[in-house]
Amino acid sequence: MKEIEQLVRKNIIALKAYSSARDEFKGETLSSNHTIFIDANENPLGSVGFAQSYNRYPDPTQRSLKDEIAKLKNTKADTIFLGNGSDEAIDLLIRIFCEPQKDTILITPPTYGMYEVAANINDVGIERVLLRESDFGISAENILAKITPHTKLIFLCSPNNPTGNLLKRDDIVRILQTFTGIVVIDEAYIDFAETPSWIATLQHYPRLVVLQTFSKAWGLAGLRLGMAFAHPMIIQLINKVKPPYNINQATQEIALTVLKQKNDYQKHLQTLIAERVKLYDNLTRMPLFEKVFPSEANFVLVRPKTDAQQLYDYLISQSIIVRNRSSQPLCQNTLRLSVGSPAENELLIEKLRQFSI
Ligand SMILES: *Cc1c(COP(=O)(O)O)cnc(C)c1O
Repeated sequence: MKEIEQLVRKNIIALKAYSSARDEFKGETLSSNHTIFIDANENPLGSVGFAQSYNRYPDPTQRSLKDEIAKLKNTKADTIFLGNGSDEAIDLLIRIFCEPQKDTILITPPTYGMYEVAANINDVGIERVLLRESDFGISAENILAKITPHTKLIFLCSPNNPTGNLLKRDDIVRILQTFTGIVVIDEAYIDFAETPSWIATLQHYPRLVVLQTFSKAWGLAGLRLGMAFAHPMIIQLINKVKPPYNINQATQEIALTVLKQKNDYQKHLQTLIAERVKLYDNLTRMPLFEKVFPSEANFVLVRPKTDAQQLYDYLISQSIIVRNRSSQPLCQNTLRLSVGSPAENELLIEKLRQFSI
């Protein structure tokens, strides 16, 4: 795949990946009692003071877990990378494609802060094209006008954090068809939106990377498990660069268990989406807010008529912690409210009503 290869840093093309014990012996005999594993300097006696054994290194390529995710997402296992949160995928993509002090990424503020932080850590420049103020949409034209020969990655977040809106398909298609670098679509909140994932289009766009996560809809933020979906060649590059055992054994086991609970997942989703709709309706009916931004995610961005910081402080005094997003471009005087449990949302509304009178 020349069109991908020519985008990759030379040292990464030349890189010979670390070969772990588990890479070199791939036999499916790990559970057999008859095989002696003395190839990885593990502790053969088990884990100290813990009934469950974590004494063996985990599968570096998470084959069982990827097979399940492949079924769920209707894709092939070789199009999947699993990371220690999707933040790991963001960092690895920048490291693979961007030459420090030379190449750049393009982001569309206001958006998720990690793209910028990961670029800064890697000493990679950042181009910014603000979202449209009227609807927080992107202008494909403005984005394409801003790219340079050094622009390697465009990060698009849909539904976008912190604004909550989906980016229009036509605008993204236009970028995918014109930009010769990598387009990353961050779908951390896609489960809450009524739109198909871009994963379904991977075959048409070999330079597309789709990010998803178990941190939001699946309720596993504490586990740290993120997904990247892309052309197998991009996945192979990420696998070459990633730490060998980046997804620990406990995470792989728990995720496999959770993936069997599809009914529970649907119940969570239904509750959270219904609560978002209710929260939005309640907020829009309150005179306290100048603007309540429509959301396809599990949060709602609001602009109070009063000082956002004052409302933020009041909510803290009522033991309710929200996110003040006022420092973000186009988000002056805004707070981001995550959808809580039904009881939490009721309490939030009650406290907000008390503030407005
Ligand atoms: C929460 C979030 C993520 C998830 O990050 P993890 O590292 O997987 O927890 C990714 N992108 C956006 C836009 C987010 O808001």
